[in-house]
Amino acid sequence: MRIDLHCHSTASDGTDTPAELVRNAAAAGLDVVALTDHDTTRGYAEAIAALPAGLTLVTGAELSCRLDGVSMHMLAYLFDPEEPALLSERELVRDDRVPRARAMVVKLQELGVPITWEQVARIAGDGSVGRPHVATALVELGVVPTVNDAFTGDWLADGARAYVPKHETDPFEALRLIKGAGGVAVFAHPAASKRGLTVPESAIAELAAAGLDGMEIDHMDHEPATRVRLRGLAAELGLLGTGSSDYHGSRKTCVLGEYTTDPEVYGEITRRATGAFPVPGTGGA
Ligand code: AMP
Ligand code: ZN
Ligand code: FE
Ligand code: FE
Repeated sequence: MRIDLHCHSTASDGTDTPAELVRNAAAAGLDVVALTDHDTTRGYAEAIAALPAGLTLVTGAELSCRLDGVSMHMLAYLFDPEEPALLSERELVRDDRVPRARAMVVKLQELGVPITWEQVARIAGDGSVGRPHVATALVELGVVPTVNDAFTGDWLADGARAYVPKHETDPFEALRLIKGAGGVAVFAHPAASKRGLTVPESAIAELAAAGLDGMEIDHMDHEPATRVRLRGLAAELGLLGTGSSDYHGSRKTCVLGEYTTDPEVYGEITRRATGAFPVPGTGGA
């Protein structure tokens, strides 16, 4: 069984539509794929409608959180997408992304970059707008060669010249909301230090005590030594350890199924969830 529990579509900052994502997941030989767009569930219906036979969809989202000034991402799986408290927090974060992206455009204009909001809005389409969309605009304008090159102190990295923070949920509140909606919570790429500051192990221990179910261990932004350390920490704290690609289509270099989750861990995630069930594919539209 090949299980990839972290993928983005055009509902946020991936480049595959939800339908393309599930078709590509099947073509990549996956048995289970999770749709985890940033702060939104709007890709679910299209993914389910297109789901090929033999592929199971885990519905989820990647929630933007911040702890002591450090941005972090919380994967939520198999929660009830209509549960009102989590829904309204998701909408708050997602909607705040728009004025925030506009403010980043203004900062870039002040730096002399001929970027416009219309350009970023076109790139984002109806997906929840984020820095990768702004980064794509910078690539289009020839300011940087690749999306990753926009994530430096010169441009869009945390605290960089054109960075603007967005509303992000306290992770302890996120845990309460996820649990309240019947979901399972997995800390995404907890030690991705290339992306900026990461939270200390003591905070992971506090989150574990507050109901965190697991953390992502096998991820492209974790070096082998980091994975070894995280595996030890997960064992110590009784956390599940997952592996996933964090696929973003052509916006990032990783491929579907580049890292995968152990079937036993996946089974435990599905047993703990009460908000939704994995959706078996029936052939697709
Ligand atoms: P946002 O949610 O708009 O703040 O954008 C965060 C997203 O930008 C993350 O989910 C990553 O996909 C991407 N990102 C953040 N840091 C980096 C980085 N150093 N290199 C490449 N992509 C990054
Ligand atoms: Zn993303
Ligand atoms: Fe993330
Ligand atoms: Fe992600």
